[in-house]
Amino acid sequence: CGIIGVVGLQDAAPRLVDGLKRLEYRGYDSAGIATLIGDGIDRRRAEGKLVNLANRLKEDPLPGTVGIGHTRWATHGVPTERNAHPHTDGRVAVVHNGIIENYATLRAELQAAGCEFRSDTDTETVVHLISHYWQNGVDPVAATHKALKRLEGAFALAIIFTGEHNLMIAARKGSPLAVGYGDGEMYIGSDALALSHLTNRLSYLEEGDWAVVRRDGVEFRTLGGDVVERAVHVSALSG
Ligand code: GLU
Repeated sequence: CGIIGVVGLQDAAPRLVDGLKRLEYRGYDSAGIATLIGDGIDRRRAEGKLVNLANRLKEDPLPGTVGIGHTRWATHGVPTERNAHPHTDGRVAVVHNGIIENYATLRAELQAAGCEFRSDTDTETVVHLISHYWQNGVDPVAATHKALKRLEGAFALAIIFTGEHNLMIAARKGSPLAVGYGDGEMYIGSDALALSHLTNRLSYLEEGDWAVVRRDGVEFRTLGGDVVERAVHVSALSG
């Protein structure tokens, strides 16, 4: 299972699928990508091998330069297209590796607040939680920070927001995640291999870090909100 994200200057879909291919070795049961398009978010997902997702994209291409991709190894909810990531409520889209241990509590709380769930995953609670805070007056970065403080379990997350074409948030607790540096672009990936077609310059999120990623750079923060520096490494992988 794996994650890739691009805040780019060219069509994101082929670059996301390429990254997912490099993550295939980890194993997966379904895959998907989502991009920002105009004022919305759209996605394509497919059960089984990446070729199914690639065929879906051939029939119905997905434009957009900002996007996230995921290969899923199901833990909560059977491996169907309905449960494949990215998950979205139309405002926020999320890919997630790991397990949100307190999802049942969060789900009940969010359902009581009127949220409608469209999958059986633990991940979808993250979508509605961020969206809920965002709708209640704070900006997407503050809304994500609030949501992250409530999540228990292990996760690597990548998040995009409708109308925010220069923003992606990554978060790490228990599952590795890297940020890649491009030329006027930035990337997120599970490892250096996932991004080896895009860059060999990377920083790794440390345990509990989250990162606010824009085309011109990244700001790393702790769960408490402090801004921290993370070293840039040059990977031997490229191409
Ligand atoms: N727990 C999530 C799910 O079942 C993520 C699984 C994964 O790590 O791919 O959808």
